[in-house]
Amino acid sequence: MAAAESLHRRTREGLAALGVRPRRRLGQSFLVDPRVVARIVAEANVAGRTVVEIGPGLGALSEALAEGAARLDLVEIETRLAERLREQFRGRPQVRVLAADALRVDYEALVGAGPRALVVANLPYSVGSQILLRLIEARAGFERLVVMLQREVAERLVARPGSKAYGTITLWTALYGRAELLFRVSPAAFVPRPKIESAVVSIALDVEPRVALADEQHFRTVVRAAFAQRRKMLRAALARLATPGEIEAAGIDPRRRGETLSIEEFARLSNELRRARH
Ligand code: SAM
Repeated sequence: MAAAESLHRRTREGLAALGVRPRRRLGQSFLVDPRVVARIVAEANVAGRTVVEIGPGLGALSEALAEGAARLDLVEIETRLAERLREQFRGRPQVRVLAADALRVDYEALVGAGPRALVVANLPYSVGSQILLRLIEARAGFERLVVMLQREVAERLVARPGSKAYGTITLWTALYGRAELLFRVSPAAFVPRPKIESAVVSIALDVEPRVALADEQHFRTVVRAAFAQRRKMLRAALARLATPGEIEAAGIDPRRRGETLSIEEFARLSNELRRARH
C-alpha cells in the first residue's frame, strides 16, 4: 500500500515538476500500481535480454526493466519526458533514450544484429494498434511483445472466428504471432484514470508467416474485402475478387460470412484464387 502511494505521489510530482499535463492525444496515462508493474516485468522475463520499451513516460516500468535487461532502449515521443529519463539513467550506459515517435523508428537499426529483442510497453491508447502493427512488421528484430493495450483491442487480438471481436487486426497479428491475453488491468492503476479498462498481452513472433501463402498482399486484399462487409456472404463481399465457383474450389462455402473463416481458411482461399487467376 505504501509503495502504491509513493508511486502515485512520485508520478504526480514528476509531472508537475516537468510542467507536463497528461495529454489524451498521446495516450498519457501513467501506471501507479506497483503490483501491475511487477507483474508485467515478471511476465516479460527480461533477464540478460535486449529490451525496447515504447512510451516509458516517467519510467514506471523502465527502472525494473533496467535491473534485469542486458540493454534497454527507451522510445519516448515527449521530449521533456525523454530528457528526464536521460537524467534518471545517467551513468548506466546499458540504457539508451530515444526521443522519437515509435511509429517512425527504424527498429532494425535500433536493435542491430544479434539475438532478437523483447518489447515491453504500456502503449498509448491513441495509437496502440498502429504501434503494435508496426512492431509486428519489425518482427525480424523482435521475438516477443509484452504490451498493455486498451482491453477491447487486446480482446480483438485473441478473438475466435465468428465472434464480434474477430477482425482484420486479429488476422494481421495471427499471421506472424501467437497472442495470449495475460491479465486485465483496472483504470484505478493509472494517473490520470482512463475511462476504459486495459489488458496485457504477450505476442510471440515468427519471422515467416505462420500459414503458407502464395502472395501475402493478395491474402491481405481478400481479408480486407471480407471484413469490409462482414455481415455479407463471401460470394457478395468478394464479388470483385472471385466467383462463387472459385470460392467453392477452395473448399469454402460461398454462403459463409468472412468473419467465420479461420486464418488457415483465408490462406487457402487466397492461394486458390491466385492459382485460378494465374
Ligand atoms: N510507461 C509509462 C507508464 O506505464 O506509466 C507511460 C505509459 S503512457 C500509457 C504512454 C506513453 O507513451 C507516454 O509517456 C506518451 O508520451 C508516450 N507516447 C505517446 N505516443 C507515442 C509515440 N507515438 N511514440 C513514442 N511514445 C509515445
